[in-house]
Amino acid sequence: MCAIEAGKRGRRVAVLEHADRLGKKILISGGGRCNFTNLHCQPESFLSSNPHFAKSALARYTPGDFIALVEKHRIPYHEKTLGQLFCDRSARDILGMLEEECHAAGVSIFLNAKIQEVRRTTDFAVHTTAAEFHAPALVVATGGLSIPKIGATSFGYDLARQFGLKIRDPRPGLVPLVLEPQDRSRYCDLTGVSAEVIASCDGQQFREKMLVTHRGLSGPAILQISSYWKKPQEISIDIAPGSELTAVFRDPKVPRTLAALRSEFRKTLPARLADRWLELHTPASWTNTALAEFEQQAHAWSITPESTEGYEKAEVTCGGVDTDELSAKTMESRKVPGLYFLREVVDVTGHLGGFNFQWAWASGAAAGRAL
Ligand SMILES: Cc1cc2nc3c(=O)[nH]c(=O)nc-3n(C[C@H](O)[C@H](O)[C@H](O)COP(=O)(O)OP(=O)(O)OC[C@H]3O[C@@H](n4cnc5c(N)ncnc54)[C@H](O)[C@@H]3O)c2cc1C
Repeated sequence: MCAIEAGKRGRRVAVLEHADRLGKKILISGGGRCNFTNLHCQPESFLSSNPHFAKSALARYTPGDFIALVEKHRIPYHEKTLGQLFCDRSARDILGMLEEECHAAGVSIFLNAKIQEVRRTTDFAVHTTAAEFHAPALVVATGGLSIPKIGATSFGYDLARQFGLKIRDPRPGLVPLVLEPQDRSRYCDLTGVSAEVIASCDGQQFREKMLVTHRGLSGPAILQISSYWKKPQEISIDIAPGSELTAVFRDPKVPRTLAALRSEFRKTLPARLADRWLELHTPASWTNTALAEFEQQAHAWSITPESTEGYEKAEVTCGGVDTDELSAKTMESRKVPGLYFLREVVDVTGHLGGFNFQWAWASGAAAGRAL
């Protein structure tokens, strides 16, 4: 996006990509259909140590701008849920569109470009194994650490450090969580069971699906809250949001038995999870107090994850180049004129649902229009 905007303004642009093709992450995104933006994109949908930083770029390149581009290329798409827009066919449509736009803007793309050294004298000199490039501006858009097997590197952070820019500690985000051994043995044989929950941590909460995995928890609610979680914090999970599981017992005619409670619980939760929860949290007695405690536990299941599944499984990397180092309008370094950092390598991370790509397009456009 940055190359396209700069190329359209007549700049000579070289994209140096170390992989053998562009946009591998686009191809695997959104389960192969690329959730390319979100209709409800708000600054609140992003984490950053400076929550105001992303506002300017997001306001100047909106989901509507990207949708207009998608429509210009006649790419069919649909809203899946919660404003999330996906390709009808394949993520290849989005990559093809960006490649076509690069071509039309006269952008040169160099694949297999292994960068060995970057130096700054009067301009920037970038040495690859095959060539040397000189330019008055250098844009670093090499992403975060997520999914090393498709080419993620620490290059962006290393380069930022080389030029004396501060980094906020990177950590995996939008990532499944690993339960500690006791909870793992209690729940993980339920692999594949999912339920709508509210997951809360650090003042944030998400009401979406949770999925039990063979080592812990995943699903949208967990992925979302994982970006806010730091060891050893607790995460609180309401496994029956909006339901009062024991309300039926206000009727004196209803017998206070495990069978009656199980039948109520199964109306709200998948049977296997309901049964397991009851086994592990059987009410101590049938008094109103004991039932209230049972109710409260189900709405505030407190877990302390052992860890996350790490960068191998994380959709994004939280943290990154400190936003204090960059202009919010152009993404240019304040200390090193001509050096730009964009997208995921910067300390701005979106929620699940197309926000990370919208940030990538918006921060790319912001720099591309300034170069
Ligand atoms: C499985 C998965 C699914 C996702 N699905 C979605 C989704 O549906 N919607 C959404 O909004 N977000 C999604 N994301 C997040 C989104 O893909 C990223 O936030 C986004 O791609 C970040 O863009 P980027 O350009 O900063 O980094 P990247 O897309 O990672 O691009 C960085 C590029 O730099 C190259 N590179 C790295 N190091 C070097 C180097 N040393 N020299 C030269 N080139 C280098 C890489 O090969 C890569 O091509 C998903 C992420 C994953 C992992």
